[in-house]
Amino acid sequence: SALSPHLAFGEIGPRQVWHAARHAADARPELAPGIDAFLREVGWREFQYHLLHHAPELPDNPLDPRFADFPWRADAAGLQAWQRGRTGYPIVDAGMRQLWETGWMHNRVRMIVASFLVKDLLLPWREGERWFWDTLVDADLAQNAGNWQWVAGCGADAAPFFRVFNPVLQGEKFDPQGDYVRRYVPELGRLPPRWIHQPWAAPTEVLRQAGIKLGDDYPRPIVDHGLARDRALALYNERKGKVDMAS
Ligand SMILES: Cc1cc2nc3c(=O)[nH]c(=O)nc-3n(C[C@H](O)[C@H](O)[C@H](O)COP(=O)(O)OP(=O)(O)OC[C@H]3O[C@@H](n4cnc5c(N)ncnc54)[C@H](O)[C@@H]3O)c2cc1C
Repeated sequence: SALSPHLAFGEIGPRQVWHAARHAADARPELAPGIDAFLREVGWREFQYHLLHHAPELPDNPLDPRFADFPWRADAAGLQAWQRGRTGYPIVDAGMRQLWETGWMHNRVRMIVASFLVKDLLLPWREGERWFWDTLVDADLAQNAGNWQWVAGCGADAAPFFRVFNPVLQGEKFDPQGDYVRRYVPELGRLPPRWIHQPWAAPTEVLRQAGIKLGDDYPRPIVDHGLARDRALALYNERKGKVDMAS
């Protein structure tokens, strides 16, 4: 709906949104399932405010105390690569460049880039929270902090903390033709859909025809996702006890 900046600045209130949507559902019952899904999102917003009200430390400290001394890495170059959309993972880079250029990202892409920062790079979720706060047009204290803690697995709800988004599979599922990536990462513009989400795996000839020299025109991946996932799961395991490593 792109209502979030207007909600964040108080130009419209959640009750107005709620009642308008309910009226629409009454008037057009065939739309009710979609409207319910939309209202669930508005419910998430209220939930995050509820959390912030009862835990004012939400923006600064993990709600789950087991994460208070989590061994986050310090990696200024990695953080900058993420901020500027130069990680070598096209869906992550497209999202981060869209954020920088427009102040906006779809929720799906926010989850993918946030998972990449916290799980693949093992950088503190507060770095991501800070960057989003500076760049999002809908930056909102409760939503930003609560969602970052949700992705990092240290928040209040039961999100499976062992979920590590695979940026290649997410790209293939939600941007199958690569149109989104091509829009924000134009240097990959001539890569066919088969390789657009993993240019490092493309045959040399395909890269040549697309006019891409990896490491030159576009970065090689700054981490190996498989290894990074194992590293993150090992550390998360220590915090949370045994989890399903196969998921
Ligand atoms: C790491 C991360 C950081 C985020 N930071 C912010 C932020 O600073 N400000 C912000 O408003 N949203 C934030 N979100 C939530 C969400 O991405 C946006 O609210 C949503 O993309 C806004 O688009 P929309 O208005 O089209 O949403 P719609 O899908 O149309 O949803 C309607 C409304 O419901 C609320 N909503 C939707 N998704 C969520 C969600 N996951 N959590 C809480 N409320 C939600 C928003 O107010 C939104 O306007 C963040 C999500 C993640 C994963």
